[in-house]
Amino acid sequence: MTTINKIKNLRPTESDASFKYVCPNCSGEYWVTLRQVKCEQFVIVCDCDTVLKPKPVEQIKIRYKKKKEKPKSETKISEDLIDSEILDRCCKSLMSYGFDKEEAAKLIQKAYKDTKNTDCATLVKMSLSNFGENNGKCN
Ligand SMILES: [Zn+2]
Repeated sequence: MTTINKIKNLRPTESDASFKYVCPNCSGEYWVTLRQVKCEQFVIVCDCDTVLKPKPVEQIKIRYKKKKEKPKSETKISEDLIDSEILDRCCKSLMSYGFDKEEAAKLIQKAYKDTKNTDCATLVKMSLSNFGENNGKCN
């Protein structure tokens, strides 16, 4: 099996750019390189015998794409979050089965996430069956 090496965010060691100049006299078009426009002595002698002197370019800057911002998780949380009053009531029921509060809350949250049900009895039942399925391991 071959391992594929992935190198991210590789940047160029060299870059080039082309600049187009148009002669105001005859509309003749000239493409020149970055190296040429960086040179202060650089001139274009147009076919119409006009000497064109491009404004010297000092540097061009690469602007890398920014990573797309992830949608704010806040909206997602509120969607997945059970009403605290319901959670409280469910926890109390589960706690009567011997769960501690943290454990109960975790189970209820999971049941709510799975079903989006807000009925306390259903969530408690779900939690208990989830708990049984995991052989007592609550994760
Ligand atoms: Zn010209």
